[in-house]
Order: sequence, then structure tokens, then C-alpha cells
Amino acid sequence: MSLRRQQWHVADATQRVTVARMPLHLTFVTSAKSHSDLPETPCEVAFVGRSNVGKSSLINALANHRQLAKVSNTPGRTQLLNLFRLPTGGTVVDLPGYGYAKVPGRERAGWRAMIEGYLLEREGLDLVLVLVDGEIGPTKLDIQMLDWLRANQVPHTVVATKLDKVRPSKLATRRKQLAAGCSLAEGDIMWASAAKGTGIEAMQHHLIALLTP
Ligand code: GDP
Repeated sequence: MSLRRQQWHVADATQRVTVARMPLHLTFVTSAKSHSDLPETPCEVAFVGRSNVGKSSLINALANHRQLAKVSNTPGRTQLLNLFRLPTGGTVVDLPGYGYAKVPGRERAGWRAMIEGYLLEREGLDLVLVLVDGEIGPTKLDIQMLDWLRANQVPHTVVATKLDKVRPSKLATRRKQLAAGCSLAEGDIMWASAAKGTGIEAMQHHLIALLTP
């Protein structure tokens, strides 16, 4: 395990963040069907999650760029590995969302092979951020993904999205439920709201540290 992975500390994103805003200056580089078609990288973080979990919105919020990752209400539409680069040379990969029921089985198997190939073989991959819907997660598919990452020893951190959709009176219970559902401690999970900006600064700082070779 690289030092960079060990440097990832989970912040309590539900607390008031005092660090300065520091957008990730991500530039779109390429989309590919296979990890073997992606450019080399010194360090990389990947985002994965169920379709509609809020992945595009989170990437856009981290970059402070509304259109960077396409926010779409049609889950499962973009099914490629999308690579973005920071001025530091570090890269971010947006993986296709999983679990959209209306897509035929054969196509789903193709995505699975693409995602698993990437996660197992990508040189330079330091961390996978597994996005789980903060209001309703983890779903069965989220748990399958976490089990698979653990079984294959792929370093990962869970990010709970849509924090603003959880009522403040329910937040303590929701945090407990979500952590237990993921078989993690509450403090191991980052919470964020792309809509309200909560937790975004803390993630920006961690990601910039992680993605600076
Ligand atoms: P993706 O399919 O995982 O990329 O999800 P999107 O980013 O397209 O978001 C799916 C839906 O959730 C959209 O309608 C977004 O507006 C909504 N959404 C995403 N993030 C948030 C959030 O932080 N809070 C709220 N309330 N809605 C969100």
C-alpha cells in the first residue's frame, strides 16, 4: 500500500468545515471502453456508485464546474470510463454507474467486466470512492460492490451522498444505519451534499493531497 493511501483521513463532513474552498481543476481527457485504453497516471482516484447516487453532481461540485461530469436523469446512459486530469498530473476516473434495471443482462455483464478489469488492473489507482445514497443506502448492489472490493483488497472509502436529504432529527440514526449496513464504523464514512456544498471542501483537500505525485 502506498503512503498516499495511508494519508487518507476521513473527516466528519457533517461538521462545519473551516478550510478554504479549493476546487479541483479537473480537465476532461478521454473516455474509454477499457482501462487498457486509458493514459498512464502517477496517481488516480476512481468514483463508483449505483446509477443516480449523485456521482456526477459530486464530481461537478468538487471541481466547482456545473457541466464537467454530465448530470443526467437517465440513469445508465453514460457507460464508459471517463478520465479527468488535475494540473498536478493526478487523475480522476468516473466509472459507469451500476444497477440500472432497464438495461439488458448482456450489456450489464459488459459493464461488469469493464469495471472489474479497471479496478483489478489499473496501474496507479490509489483509492476508490464508493458512493452510497445517504438517504436510502446502502442498497444490495452497494454491499455487493463493497464485498467485492474487500475480497480483492482494493483500497476504498465510502462517501454518503445527498446529506441535505436527511432530516437533521434523523441524521444520527441514519449515520449509524448506513455505517452498519456497510460493515464500517461511523467515522469511516464521509458525508457530502453536492446540492448544499456540505463536506465538499474537506473532500477537495483530501483529494488534492492524494492526487499530487
Ligand atoms: P449519477 O447518476 O450518480 O451521476 O447521479 P446525478 O449526479 O446525475 O444525480 C442524480 C439525481 O440526484 C439528480 O436529480 C441530482 O440533482 C440529484 N442529486 C445529486 N446530488 C444531490 C445532493 O447532494 N442533494 C440532492 N438533494 N440531490 C442530489
